[in-house]
Amino acid sequence: MQDTRTRLKNRLSWLLPWLLVSLLGVVWIASQTIDRQRALFETDARIVHRLLSQQVVQHDAILATLALLQPGHTGAQTGEEATPEQRLTALYPHILTVQRRDRDGTWSDPALQQAENVSQQQKRAALAKVDVTKGRYQLVLAAQPMAYALTIDVRGMVPWADWPMKVDSSPVRVVLAHEGQSFLIQKGETDTLSTPSLLDWQFNFSKHLAAASQPFDVVATQTFKWHQLPWVLMLLWPVLVAAVLYLISFLLRQRDARRRAEELLRLGQVARLNTLGELAAGMAHELNQPLTAMLANTQAAQRMLADSPPELETAQRAMTQAVAQARRASEVVGRLRRAVEQPESDQGTQALELGDVLRRAVYLLEPEAKRLGIVINMQSAEPVWVLADSVALDQIVHNLLMNAFQALESSNAEPKRLQINTAQSGQFGELRVADNGAGIPEDVLPRLFEPFFSTREGGLGLGLSLCETLAQGMGGEISAGNQATGGAEFTLKLPLSKQQTPST
Ligand code: ADP
Repeated sequence: MQDTRTRLKNRLSWLLPWLLVSLLGVVWIASQTIDRQRALFETDARIVHRLLSQQVVQHDAILATLALLQPGHTGAQTGEEATPEQRLTALYPHILTVQRRDRDGTWSDPALQQAENVSQQQKRAALAKVDVTKGRYQLVLAAQPMAYALTIDVRGMVPWADWPMKVDSSPVRVVLAHEGQSFLIQKGETDTLSTPSLLDWQFNFSKHLAAASQPFDVVATQTFKWHQLPWVLMLLWPVLVAAVLYLISFLLRQRDARRRAEELLRLGQVARLNTLGELAAGMAHELNQPLTAMLANTQAAQRMLADSPPELETAQRAMTQAVAQARRASEVVGRLRRAVEQPESDQGTQALELGDVLRRAVYLLEPEAKRLGIVINMQSAEPVWVLADSVALDQIVHNLLMNAFQALESSNAEPKRLQINTAQSGQFGELRVADNGAGIPEDVLPRLFEPFFSTREGGLGLGLSLCETLAQGMGGEISAGNQATGGAEFTLKLPLSKQQTPST
């Protein structure tokens, strides 16, 4: 239960960054696409504006040239030579007609007359008739003695060769607008006219043509639909982010596993060293007895020899030497034993919080617990600060946990439980490690802490004996028993520390 909750919490802690980075990325891709589309649209609209402006400016120039040269003024008054300006229509197909008001004459069309008056006033060409729906307009320039008027076809005026867009397929709609009327130049997307939905983007461009005589506006519009966004890329992005996050979490897990392995290796090395010490202690115990006996015997022999004839002086010297040797051996063994039994006594102790030590140990053994299907439950009413040697305490805890793992591995209990409690008990900090394995048989209990006692096949039987030595070295004790519900329970007691912060 707790396991699934932690797993869920772990997943959620990745979900949030994934959501955030995905969302930011998707918004960024969308806004980049829209910006690019808008920039393309504006560039095209500006080119269209420049091209059409060039055309209308050219109309002004043509009229000015006609007025200046007055081509109809000289020569015969009839035939083609009299109206050479008519050749303009061949040169500029979008100039449909060129009309002329002769010297002292009047325009047949009053609109042209009116436009000439305006032109006269404004000193530039003026619009006469504008039929935007047909795409035609007339432009008049007042001049003396003759004035000229051009009829211009808007569609023909568009320089399609230089047009920046594909007329049939471009989504951009282009019109030439004049006083509320508009002439369609490029259709754009058919549904451009329909009102854009909330999710669509509308690009607009509107600018007067560059000739004051022809006050038309170039109006360009484009609707960028939400479905035109690069959805494949936008959906690929979250997948990519998920893949990268998965890779990071994989690498982190790998680093974690490597750290655990290194820490376990270190613990193993310390354990091996300590086990060696324990082994030496065991041997010392074994050796001390015969050595003491040897010493007593040789001393007795020396005394007896002293009662013998005096020639035996050499023998006496040899015996003295033997005594000295035996003493030396005993001393060496004694020193070794003392060194092992009191590992640096008080020197390495510091204030340690039992919960911290436990969490570290459990963290290291987590993969093994998972493999064996063991549920570990840690309980502590309050922080318990003890005075202990960090390495020694690590080792005791590790040994107790490993023993419980071994007991649970060969047990059929379901689920396999390991309960760890810490508490204060008088002057001691108490740590209890209980499992729901088979427990300890009554006849085994008294021998549990003996060196080389083991019921496990291939077991050295030094683990608990070492734990006891280490605990006693720190002024504490360790005991074992069975729980009422079955399963073994080990209790470690260590002196409480007055200091409640980790000493450095
Ligand atoms: P080893 O693990 O090499 O056998 P230990 O000194 O660690 O040596 O343990 C001695 C014995 O104590 C084990 O062989 C086992 O019989 C018993 N023992 C230790 N822990 C438990 C436990 N949690 N449940 C049952 N028996 C245990």
